[in-house]
Amino acid sequence: MTSSKKPQTSIEELKGVGPETMKDLDRLGIFTWEDLLWHLPHRYENVAIRPVEELEHDAQATLAGTVQGPPTVKYYGAKKNRLSFRLFADEHLIQVVAFNRAFLKNKLQPETKVNVTGKWDRYRAQLTAQRIEFGDVDETRAYAPVYTITGKLTVRQLENWIKQVIRQDVFPEEALPVFLQKKYKLPTIAEALATLHQPENAQTLKNARRRVVYEEFLCFQLNIQAYKRTRRKNERAEPTKIDEASTRRFVQALPFALTDAQARSLREILADIQDGHKMNRLLQGDVGSGKTVVAACAMYAVVGAGKQAALMVPTEILASQHAESLAEFFHPYGLEVALLTGSTKTARRKEIHAGLESGEISMIVGTHALIQAAVPFHDLGLVITDEQHRFGVEQRRALREKGNPDALFMTATPIPRTLAITAYGEMDVSRIDEQPSGRKPVKTYWAKPDMLERIIAFVHKETSAGKQAYVICPLIEESEQLDVQNAIDIHAQLETLMPDNRIGLLHGRLREEEKEAAMDGFTGGDIDVLVATTVVEVGVNVANATIMIIYDADRFGLSQLHQLRGRVGRGDAQSYCILLSDPASETGKERMRIMTETTDGFVLAEKDLRLRGPGDLLGQKQSGMPEFRLADPVHDYRALDTARQDASALLDSEEFWQHPDYQTLRDDVQKTGAISGKKLD
Ligand code: ADP
Ligand code: MG
Repeated sequence: MTSSKKPQTSIEELKGVGPETMKDLDRLGIFTWEDLLWHLPHRYENVAIRPVEELEHDAQATLAGTVQGPPTVKYYGAKKNRLSFRLFADEHLIQVVAFNRAFLKNKLQPETKVNVTGKWDRYRAQLTAQRIEFGDVDETRAYAPVYTITGKLTVRQLENWIKQVIRQDVFPEEALPVFLQKKYKLPTIAEALATLHQPENAQTLKNARRRVVYEEFLCFQLNIQAYKRTRRKNERAEPTKIDEASTRRFVQALPFALTDAQARSLREILADIQDGHKMNRLLQGDVGSGKTVVAACAMYAVVGAGKQAALMVPTEILASQHAESLAEFFHPYGLEVALLTGSTKTARRKEIHAGLESGEISMIVGTHALIQAAVPFHDLGLVITDEQHRFGVEQRRALREKGNPDALFMTATPIPRTLAITAYGEMDVSRIDEQPSGRKPVKTYWAKPDMLERIIAFVHKETSAGKQAYVICPLIEESEQLDVQNAIDIHAQLETLMPDNRIGLLHGRLREEEKEAAMDGFTGGDIDVLVATTVVEVGVNVANATIMIIYDADRFGLSQLHQLRGRVGRGDAQSYCILLSDPASETGKERMRIMTETTDGFVLAEKDLRLRGPGDLLGQKQSGMPEFRLADPVHDYRALDTARQDASALLDSEEFWQHPDYQTLRDDVQKTGAISGKKLD
């Protein structure tokens, strides 16, 4: 049946909607028929009716039947009660129990038809009801939708109104062109929405979901990609003119050949710098994959073009390490690298400011002290941030505002590719997906704490052979003080257990000189074993260290464990990671098992996502994930990737901009202001 009604028709024009229900519907954001259709169930209950003989003990079950005899209610105090009645279903007499549903007593007259869903107790022939439905319920359906409701609304009312809309064949306009529907065997939007509200079986439900998820991702991708293209067009800047030959010589003079992935990433970065669009790129690469070297090459190229380059890192230790390793690369070219952190002395700070202002200092490494308003730049051409997810969005913006330089964000967090695209939707992504050749995977063991003696003997053997070890102390949530105390205790313990080794200590509460002394001692080989809190987590590079021992390893997330493990295995020698832990929880045990099974950061990231969810991985809500009605970027990442590619191809095509089939998608992109209306270059 077709009707004169449109998706925009007000909900007023539905049977059974009055002024009171309107208020509740308003509160759910439902004003039109279309809104109602998009008020999708947040889950489904399996309500397929099965023969009583097939029901499993303690599992959910649905039975349809008639009430036998009057129900009884027992009260326990003012609010608690227990309703019970007998149900004749499928030739069996079943006992139904429902808690705090005394209000149903009068409706449950003998011979009333009801469907009851709940937990089945085989031995008592009893169903503990979660859901009691009256009247003629479709007994062939497998799933009952569960809706969010508010105020006095009931699920039954919602279902009824939605049925009215569906029966009158009122649906949003079909946005997907036929060829895409065919390509992925997707139902129409009308079929999909009808199914999502009234699913017949698992297969059609799955396809309906697939359809809506794909459309959401496609629109999202069309929008961000169109936006990116427009912004690129408007942000055209004076291109930085790179001396390619000189940059090539710099790369060739490195003590090693770049891996293919490094070379490709560098090419992408240099292309961004030269093409006169502002670079906004994420450089992803597992720990030890050689991001810093790529950064150095880019800095060299920009400085060679007469501009300044800055590298921003999250900790002071890392800042001094990076400053040192960059200095090594640049020293032969007479280029200096300045270091600016929170603990830089005032006099030196003034010097640096002056140097940056005049342009005398062309390269600088620092912590976020770098982006404080007072730091002036002469002509900042490139800003690189390492471990960018540790910086707040605000800090990143502040730095970009310093003359709006090309921006490169490096991260070792192996965010699954499509998740990165969603989280950092407006960025381009380069990925270093291989390790320099000759690296041996770190051998990882899971040991119980009572094996400490054997472990120490092993460390001793390695240090006697000139190798070094990290010992990472347990992480006590929310309390740096306790972390520090742990480190101090373990340091003292190891000093007794390993009297002929030199044991260093590094934690966040040390003074800056003490931290540097510990780090320098370890880098220089004067310290055999470095006991540390997680301050070494990010970026520290001591190739001679071959052992990483992590106390209470189950307290760390997989990604963090992977970062820590990445501190070893940086040289040619075989390295080891020992996870000391006796986890109480299953998740903890699972993490230990996974760590011993793989050294692939991306595999770990995917598992971490599954164990913890994306919020943790990307750091709270700052991840900037857009919200979808149905789509879940983590769960549906394959669909997201498909949609990304399709969106790109569509934006490139003539048809998208001309053909009437694309009108709805085009309108959507134009409505959100992502583009100004015509085909982009
Ligand atoms: P990341 O920053 O990605 O963790 P680094 O840039 O610190 O990695 O590199 C780790 C180590 O590997 C450094 O000692 C670096 O000099 C070395 N390295 C980087 N690229 C290569 C390469 N292509 N071949 C050999 N060694 C490399
Ligand atoms: Mg690095």
